[in-house]
Amino acid sequence: MKNYVTIEYDGLYIDGQWMNPSSADRIKVYSTATEDYIGSVPEAKNADIDNAVEAARRAFDDKKGWSTWTSAERVTVLKRFADEYESRGEEIARRVTAQNGMPTALSQKWETTNPAQLLRFYADMVSGQQEEIRQGVKGKKVLVTRSPIGVVGAIVPWNVPQSITFLKLAPSLAAGCTVVLKPSPETVLDAFLVAEAAHAAGLPAGVLNVVPAGGSVSAYLVSHPLVDKISFTGSPEVGRLIGETCGRMLRPVTLELGGKSAAIVLDDCDLSSSIDDIYRASMTNNGQVCWLSTRILLPESRFEEMLDIITAKISSLKVGDPFDPDTEVGPLVSKRHRERVEALIKASVEDGARILIGGKHPEGVKKGWFLEPTILVDVDPKSIAAQKEFFGPVLSIIKYTDEEHAIEIANDSDYGLAGSVWSANFGRAVGVAKQVFTGTIGINGYATDPSSPFGGVKDSGLGRELGAEGLAHYQVLKSVYLLQPNDV
Ligand code: NAD
Repeated sequence: MKNYVTIEYDGLYIDGQWMNPSSADRIKVYSTATEDYIGSVPEAKNADIDNAVEAARRAFDDKKGWSTWTSAERVTVLKRFADEYESRGEEIARRVTAQNGMPTALSQKWETTNPAQLLRFYADMVSGQQEEIRQGVKGKKVLVTRSPIGVVGAIVPWNVPQSITFLKLAPSLAAGCTVVLKPSPETVLDAFLVAEAAHAAGLPAGVLNVVPAGGSVSAYLVSHPLVDKISFTGSPEVGRLIGETCGRMLRPVTLELGGKSAAIVLDDCDLSSSIDDIYRASMTNNGQVCWLSTRILLPESRFEEMLDIITAKISSLKVGDPFDPDTEVGPLVSKRHRERVEALIKASVEDGARILIGGKHPEGVKKGWFLEPTILVDVDPKSIAAQKEFFGPVLSIIKYTDEEHAIEIANDSDYGLAGSVWSANFGRAVGVAKQVFTGTIGINGYATDPSSPFGGVKDSGLGRELGAEGLAHYQVLKSVYLLQPNDV
């Protein structure tokens, strides 16, 4: 496996410069595949969060600042940002793969293109936004304006760090907000390249600040009095804590949380031709994606035949060096995370499930946080294997009797983020999809799209990213009633 040249940063990107950190503590990053040291950055403390939030506040409140620019002026800079990002895209993707084990075939696809695409998408969206005049029901007209909500605290996870970062950065910056970005400690080296790209694009000082930190310092950011809005992606446990703080402060918050989505395979599905797509929808990125359909629901009438096809596919996956372009399953993000996934597999077995394949460390592999792709069978819909999010390469196979039963099982979850329906009959599949209580669902595949809202119901979160909805929550609406004297 490739050794990575170590990368060291001395400063935190605050107020348009690489500012000396308030402490000597550093976040060190190790390769998930080789366990080699790959670099470090300063660890932000509360004092650095103060500096970052104050810089973002000044940049937002500045009478000639970013929030007051016309959308056309912002669009020019955001498109340059997209270009600067793209010119670093390959290196950013390499850093992501080195830090979190994302197979390079995926990081070179997702993490190079999604961020720039989102910047351009939201730049175009704001340039098309006009002030709106509505014809009032009572006869008078109303002017409806949109203004940026203010200073945004954006807190992101490690699993798809760049694409998720730009789900927040692209709409908030396009709206005219200023941002304090708090990357996850596992993936910091890629985040610093984002700061470099923003700087090179000419984003004014303070508009974007990058401060990597752990849990308690992140919580300090959430409760900071000068922040106007929090946008968070991560676990339901942390999401709940953030929601409590924001609720107490009446601070707007968007929460993108976990999932345990269902792939409903209907009895008319040609599974042999769909199997690659089913794998991509259920185990891509080593099982570390929130929207994966990790519960596979198979019809009783074709159960054994379909299970054989799935087992053959999952057993054939190439596990190994995430920098090998043929690798399909790389290592998990950390030793601690692998132990967590293994503990969930063990608990599932104690709860009645059976390991059909996998569940162990790959043979002969001495280094790295690898786990064999795993299939659990004999899974009761109420059991641990069906209810808990593993966030690893583990599928739970569940048998259903008829369509109604499949929908009931799919909805029997604390989560509701994604899902998929697989069928030869498109109309039938859409009919089933409509009955699943979830924020998003795919037919014969799963792929989010910038045009359309993404987010969850129940424990999967609050609010939506992407689409026009993903811009709206960074904007404040104001109704100006266009009355004449004596109208009231
Ligand atoms: P996590 O909740 O542990 O951490 C997410 C981020 O929150 C990190 O930056 C972390 O440093 C920060 N954080 C930790 N404690 C905090 C606190 N008390 N206050 C504020 N911030 C805090 O999640 P993770 O392990 O990094 O990511 C995995 C989880 O994220 C999974 O549950 C996964 O489903 C979810 N996820 C959801 C989506 C989505 O769009 N819905 C996308 C990716 C991941």
